[in-house]
Amino acid sequence: MGGRGCWGSCRFCSITTYYRDARARAGGGRTMRLRSPENLAAEMALLWHATGGMGAIFCFHDDNFLLPRPEDSLARVRALRSALDDYGVGKIALVGKGRPDCITPELLRELASLGLVRLYVASRTPRSAAPTTSDAGPRSHAPTLLSRPAGRPT
Ligand code: SF4
Repeated sequence: MGGRGCWGSCRFCSITTYYRDARARAGGGRTMRLRSPENLAAEMALLWHATGGMGAIFCFHDDNFLLPRPEDSLARVRALRSALDDYGVGKIALVGKGRPDCITPELLRELASLGLVRLYVASRTPRSAAPTTSDAGPRSHAPTLLSRPAGRPT
């Protein structure tokens, strides 16, 4: 986990409601919390070196690996790579989840260079094709998967 919770407020999703309720009813913390790239790299380095760096696939189960502004995600990804370099971590593979509206080609290239092999995104259904029930509304979605074979350049 590189963080927990999410900054988004997608109508169909329980994540933000869960943390909002936890805060309201039990004094829980912020809706989203992130580990620093250095803290994350330290744990990844431990695992990478423990396995000799062979076939290391880091499967992130963060609710949302990406930040609202692509430039902030870009800075976070670069800081993570830099911290991994400091720990002597070589090639890795990475799996994560993110929102499609905060992904740019530059960010995808940077993620690919970090080792992204699979990114789960939720694509929104066009308004005209969305279910009409009041709960689903026009923002309902169908899951989408972007992936490329491990080790293959973009
Ligand atoms: S971006 Fe993902 S995790 Fe965040 S609220 Fe939307 S569906 Fe939920």
